[in-house]
Amino acid sequence: MLNRDPATRNPLRRGEPTFDGGRGLGGPGELELLSGIRQRAEGHGARALTLGIGDDCALLRPRPGEDLAVTTDLSVAGRHFRLEWHPAASVGHRTLARGLSDLASMGARPLAAFLSLGLPRELTGGARGGGASWLDRFLDGFFALANASQAALAGGDLAESPVAAADIVLIGAVPRGRALLRSGARAGEVLYMTGTLGGAAAAFQRLSGLAEAAEANRRPRRLRIPKSLGPELVPHLYPQPRLAQGQWLMRRRVATAAIDISDGLSTDLGHLCEESGVAAEVRAEALPVHAGATLEEALHGGEEYELLFTAPASARVPRSIAGVPITAIGRILRRSKGRPQVTLVSAEGSRSLEAHGWQHFK
Ligand SMILES: [Mg+2]
Repeated sequence: MLNRDPATRNPLRRGEPTFDGGRGLGGPGELELLSGIRQRAEGHGARALTLGIGDDCALLRPRPGEDLAVTTDLSVAGRHFRLEWHPAASVGHRTLARGLSDLASMGARPLAAFLSLGLPRELTGGARGGGASWLDRFLDGFFALANASQAALAGGDLAESPVAAADIVLIGAVPRGRALLRSGARAGEVLYMTGTLGGAAAAFQRLSGLAEAAEANRRPRRLRIPKSLGPELVPHLYPQPRLAQGQWLMRRRVATAAIDISDGLSTDLGHLCEESGVAAEVRAEALPVHAGATLEEALHGGEEYELLFTAPASARVPRSIAGVPITAIGRILRRSKGRPQVTLVSAEGSRSLEAHGWQHFK
């Protein structure tokens, strides 16, 4: 769908226009590769997808009176994941989770996903001894989450690339005018969040420690994660986007503003305050810090994919939504000169909470 170069002769362009081979991967396995992806994509997803992979465009039919929510996210090897550290299934899961989390924060339900992959050739071929390829295992992780979230894969692109990269586009739907925005928070409201904080950052520390130890021992290029460590690493490797919680907050008209914590609480709360024109105060002792994580990891660790939202003090906010705990962590204040945008209140007193989360190109 993108990047058409008439000089490239590619039979796939005629056969599989909505999941096509770009400047193809070449080789005899290419057609099989794409038809394999198409087969895995069929039979899943929202009813709004009236035409999926196979024509020049996918067709989507939202319900009458709905707005479409669209988000895109690019993951690059060496920047957002490491081929040596991350299991391929985790990279597939995380690629989709990043997009789904943006839909969740707006209260949207997923309709369709579009996935473009740039991959070195060796990642698309089977392992020696007939094992699954990196791409196969990437798709295992991708489709497991796609099916659980009713996000149909409706198209994409595949091309050879010296660096592995995965770009995801998500289309969602939300009743007209009802999407949860970053800009709706008002002074006097209460600040809430779903789940716990710091688990993903703590798990990432654990994973990088494991990888460094393996490198020091000159172990194989791909990191083997011991089974016993699996559950501890889940918050980083397989984070859950809070789709049910976002849609609940939208439907019940409880939240006045929302954002997903993808870059860290300190950074994303700053974004919410900025867009709403308010300040905020967070109580350190109220933060639901994940077992084994530090306060610093909870404040600044990214890739949590929990939702941060505001509601009037009079609103009835449940203790949990669809099995995920909800915690009041602070309040929204009027913005004024001499007051930090975000204040952290703890037993030691109050201090300005600067954004130290993930910032691109810094
Ligand atoms: Mg977001």
